[in-house]
Amino acid sequence: MPRRLRHLIVILGDQLDRRSPALDDFDPARDAVWMAEVAEEATHVWSHKARIALFLTAMRHFRDELQQRGWSVLYRPLDAADNCGSLAGELERTLQRQRPQAVLLVEPGDYRVEQALRQTCSRQGVPLRVLEDRHFYASRAEFAEHARGRKQLRLEFFYREMRRRHDVLMAGDQPEGGAWNFDAENRKSFGQAGPPAVPTPLAFAPDAVTREVLQLVATRFADHPGSLEAFDWPVTPEQARLALEDFLTQRLARFGDYQDAMWTDQPYLYHARISAALNLKLLDPREAVEGAERLYRLGKAPLPAVEGFIRQILGWREYVRGVYWLLMPEYAQRNALNAQQPLPNFYWTGQTDMNCLRQVIGQTLQLGYAHHIQRLMVTGLYALLLGVHPRAVHEWYLAVYVDAVEWVELPNTLGMSQYADGGVMASKPYVASGKYIERMSNYCQGCRYDPAAAVGAKACPFTTLYWDFLLRHEQQLADNPRMRMQIRNAERLSPDRRRAIQQQAAQHRQEVNP
Ligand code: FAD
Ligand code: SF4
Repeated sequence: MPRRLRHLIVILGDQLDRRSPALDDFDPARDAVWMAEVAEEATHVWSHKARIALFLTAMRHFRDELQQRGWSVLYRPLDAADNCGSLAGELERTLQRQRPQAVLLVEPGDYRVEQALRQTCSRQGVPLRVLEDRHFYASRAEFAEHARGRKQLRLEFFYREMRRRHDVLMAGDQPEGGAWNFDAENRKSFGQAGPPAVPTPLAFAPDAVTREVLQLVATRFADHPGSLEAFDWPVTPEQARLALEDFLTQRLARFGDYQDAMWTDQPYLYHARISAALNLKLLDPREAVEGAERLYRLGKAPLPAVEGFIRQILGWREYVRGVYWLLMPEYAQRNALNAQQPLPNFYWTGQTDMNCLRQVIGQTLQLGYAHHIQRLMVTGLYALLLGVHPRAVHEWYLAVYVDAVEWVELPNTLGMSQYADGGVMASKPYVASGKYIERMSNYCQGCRYDPAAAVGAKACPFTTLYWDFLLRHEQQLADNPRMRMQIRNAERLSPDRRRAIQQQAAQHRQEVNP
């Protein structure tokens, strides 16, 4: 350990990039890495045990690797007797003790954390250098440039720009296959027969480091939601690469067709299961994008599947990060639909007689995972239709998924799912009745409700609340051209029908939020 540090390099739990720019010119004789496990990051939202465990074990594997290189790592374990519990507090103490010439930090994934660390360094009078995160294709500044002067931000324009700039799936200056988007081909459901053979995703049995973390989390966070029993996530870059390879060779070909489909007891279907590895920076997004394109060029995966997958990573993932940094901190306060309901308690237990919610929340608590349509069109849709306050919805999503980091979770939840940003992320609220869930899954077959019924004893709460949503927001949404059909259908309801729907919705709200 050098006597007077030149650089103290702060590495956060979601910055486990072995090629981090903060390590570019690391000098073992003069620099040290600083990492801290702190309770605050597990408790500021009531985090799922698997989410806490994944961050901690991935951090410990990263630490061990650096130490094997002979580098100094000042590592603050969660169970150190004098761990003060917050990143800012722990860093403050280290700065007082070490007085480094400068602190280096790659752009964090959370506005709150970035502010806290900036303030700490400033209080201690230690210069802080915040470095651009090379993990992403687009820098914060490039996105701001893209957004400048635009009245509306839309994924599609940004995505095309990214495809061109990075020469992904291009045939000269035209998109491969003559279209930018194969969405219409990517919305199949399984029908009565259910999914064709679903390969079991590669699982990673906990090693000694992970087992110790699982024990620590089970004891220390015993009252937190979720289970640790199924924990098998990739926790190192090597494992993350194997997980990607497994997806590309076993599931990618069907990813496009069944991207939006859901099925009981099939949590992963043909999804990649790599979001946590990407977000912790164990996996470079370029490997995923280039790997998928390679399979297409070799004729081993169809274009709609490959384009659909690439759009998620080169498009959506980069786009939501851009939106987050462009609009924070004000973005987190938005509530365009003035939703005020609390989040029903069953989101934390899965105990509800609505089968779709029971399945998706049950799976979420068991695994810390749900795929996109389960998040958007089951848990998200219900919260939107019920009128839950977006902050409560956001805190739940940030807590319960192993891949949850605020830069990606918040725009997806607040914007795409809850329309709380008034249309920045989505051109209209994603609202649908129980009939959508019936079409895209087999959940309704095991449910006591009828997705076609809006009123009466068997009325599906999604369907009741769908009509109620349209009636509640009739005026606000009437000017939105993409909502015109739905609003017109609501306008056609007779006064008696409206009253019956509104009564049924009020009764349902009373039942779930007594
Ligand atoms: P796949 O479906 O196989 O997709 C491949 C990859 O594309 C993902 O790993 C992910 O990196 C990226 N991707 C796909 N959709 C999105 C998207 N909408 N935004 C950003 N990246 C995307 N994703 C997170 O990584 N963290 C979150 O906290 C998160 N919260 C969400 C909250 C809500 C309400 C919604 C609707 C979506 C959220 N998503 C989040 C996006 C998406 O649901 C997950 O990325 C995806 O389900 C992860 O599973 P997978 O790796 O199997 O993804
Ligand atoms: Fe969900 Fe309604 Fe279908 Fe039941 S009937 S599973 S509540 S959509």
